[in-house]
Amino acid sequence: MGGAEPESAEVDRLPGWVTLLRAPNPGPMTLDGTNTWILRAPGADFATVIDPGPLDEGHLRRIAEHGPFGSILVTHGHHDHVEGADRLAELLGGTPVRAADPRHCRDSEPLDPNGPLDGNGLEITVLDTPGHTSDSVCFLVECGNDRVMFTGDTMLGRGTTVVAPPDGDLGAYLTSLGVLSAYPSVLMLPGHGPARTDTAERAHFYLGHRRERLAQVRAAMATGARTPAAVVDLVYPDIDPHLRFAAEWSAAAQIDHLNRESGTGVNRLDRP
Ligand SMILES: [Zn+2]
Repeated sequence: MGGAEPESAEVDRLPGWVTLLRAPNPGPMTLDGTNTWILRAPGADFATVIDPGPLDEGHLRRIAEHGPFGSILVTHGHHDHVEGADRLAELLGGTPVRAADPRHCRDSEPLDPNGPLDGNGLEITVLDTPGHTSDSVCFLVECGNDRVMFTGDTMLGRGTTVVAPPDGDLGAYLTSLGVLSAYPSVLMLPGHGPARTDTAERAHFYLGHRRERLAQVRAAMATGARTPAAVVDLVYPDIDPHLRFAAEWSAAAQIDHLNRESGTGVNRLDRP
């Protein structure tokens, strides 16, 4: 949704051990579709899947052709990332599904945030990055000299992600961007949109964007805007009607965040 993109350039060429399969679910919230990532260390018997995507039989069968897999990992519980997990596990004969939220796990323990993971020859570290949702994680994966970050919906390849109550939390999101800003020159592979050259640069870009928006919302509230709808009218006067609901969710999160920051408790948010 607007804003100049940073120098962190789009990337066409992926490391040889990473394969992208894009799900056929394009839309305003999913961009070109959900990115399903397949990782296989050179010579490894087992690969790893990140985000099986929606319940689309053709997509899931294409993923299964890249097996066998040691595990199916999930960045967060939104249906466009996790809906196909059970069916994929079935197609693969019972591969475990691992997520931070136990409700999305299958034959496995929940992910241990900030802990290492068995990646069949890859070093995988789980980073706890709540904000887009309370269960959002990123995966830092190392293979030889390559370091890449799988960011799910915490950072997208294009546009900005939705951070909306009740499950989203803007304060937590800003903290998570701070965590990701510590990974310069680490390739960023998002849940939607193109890969980007630099995780830290992308995090700084989003931090700047969010702070700018917060300043605008603070100004709108100072002129008497009380509800997400009123804030959107002032801050995004030319909003595409199809994206208005997302803007109102974001405005609700911003109002909530600013109220908590100032400790006033006034202007309690009207959920859109
Ligand atoms: Zn999501």
